[in-house]
Amino acid sequence: MNVMAKRQLDIDLSLHHALNRMEFVLHYQPQVDNFGKIIGAEALLRWHSSVLGNVSPAEFIPQAEGSGAILSIGEWVIRTACLEMRDWLDKGVCAESCYIAINVSPCQLKQSDFVERITAIVREVGIHPHQIDIELTEGVLMWDTEDAKQKLFELKEQGFRISVDDFGTGYSSLAYLKHFPIDVLKIDRFFVQDIGFSHRDEAISRAIINLAISLGIKTVAEGVETISQVQFLQSHGCEAYQGYYFSEPVSALKMASLLQR
Ligand code: C2E
Ligand code: CA
Ligand code: CA
Repeated sequence: MNVMAKRQLDIDLSLHHALNRMEFVLHYQPQVDNFGKIIGAEALLRWHSSVLGNVSPAEFIPQAEGSGAILSIGEWVIRTACLEMRDWLDKGVCAESCYIAINVSPCQLKQSDFVERITAIVREVGIHPHQIDIELTEGVLMWDTEDAKQKLFELKEQGFRISVDDFGTGYSSLAYLKHFPIDVLKIDRFFVQDIGFSHRDEAISRAIINLAISLGIKTVAEGVETISQVQFLQSHGCEAYQGYYFSEPVSALKMASLLQR
C-alpha cells in the first residue's frame, strides 16, 4: 500500500508540471472501413515524464480525473488534435470527411461551458466540427441525463460526431440510446478478442451490431488483432475497425504518411 501511495503521489506531482514541460504527445490509431481505407483515427495520449519515464494513460488518466488536472490536459488534447487535423488537411494528405476521435472524460463534459470551449477551439483552428468525434463512456451518459442530453444535442447541432466508447462494459442501460443523439457504438476489445473462441462473445458482438443497425448507428470494433475477427465482424455488418491488425497507435508524422498512402 505504501508503494502504491508513493507512486500515486509521484504521478500527481509530476502531472502538475507535465503540460508546462511539454511532456505530452498524441499518438493516432487509424480506423479503417470495409475497403481497407482509413476513415479516421483515435487520438491517444502519451506521457513521457522527465521524472518517471513513460507512464501509461490507463494509470495517469484516472489520477488526473481525480485531481482535476484532466480539465487542462483534456483541453490540450482537443486543441492539439484539431491542430494536427488542420496540418493534415493543409498537407493534402487527408480527406475532408476524415475525423479524429477524442476521448473526453466525464468531468470535462460536466463543465458548464464545455460545448462553447470545444466549439471555440475548432473554429479558431479552422476545421469543421464533423472532423471531430467525441468518445464518451457509458458512465457519462448515466449521471445527469438532462444535463448530458442537452450538451450532446448542442454538440450534435454544431456538427460533432458522438461515439460511445467501450460499449457494453459499463453501466449498461439501453435507455440512453433512445434519448441521446449517438452516431457510433465502439465494440469493446473485451468482446472482440474472443471472437473465434467464445460463442458468447461472438453472440454479443453480433447483437451490438444488429442493435446499432436497427437504430441507424454505426459500429467501430476496437482491439481488432486478426483477419478472422475482421471477417466475422464484417459478415455481420460492422462498418469500421481499429486495432493492431491494421496499425498500432503511431506519431502524428507517421499518421500523415499512412493517410497519404
Ligand atoms: P481506450 O479509449 O479504450 O483506447 C484503446 C486502447 O486500446 C489504447 O490503449 C490502445 O493503445 C489499445 N489498443 C489499440 N489497439 C489494440 C489491439 O489491437 N489490442 C489491444 N490489446 N489493445 C489495443 P492506451 O493508449 O494505453 O489507452 C488506454 C486508455 O486511456 C484509453 O482506452 C482511454 O480510456 C484512456 N485515454 C487515452 N488517451 C486519452 C485522452 O486523451 N483523454 C482521456 N480522457 N482518456 C484517454
Ligand atoms: Ca477511446
Ligand atoms: Ca475503448
